[in-house]
Amino acid sequence: MENWALPEINLDLCDRCGDCVEKCPTQSVEMGPQGPFFARALDCTYCAVCETVCPQGAITCAYEIVWDMED
Ligand code: SF4
Ligand code: SF4
Repeated sequence: MENWALPEINLDLCDRCGDCVEKCPTQSVEMGPQGPFFARALDCTYCAVCETVCPQGAITCAYEIVWDMED
């Protein structure tokens, strides 16, 4: 089974500010001991808000590239 499309969180860049947890409109992301993680992955709408708000550039919505290529 394919993985559900989710933004990628690079915990090496993340400073645990919690912005992604606060701003996620579907509360998909929660803060764990290692940093943010997808507690409710199926609720993620891939809106890319977390990518936008992350001050560290630690979140990447890779599938955006696919949408950009549509023409
Ligand atoms: S892409 Fe949107 S819904 Fe998914 S985790 Fe990020 S902010 Fe939440
Ligand atoms: S917004 Fe970025 S730096 Fe802040 S907790 Fe989320 S992933 Fe980490």
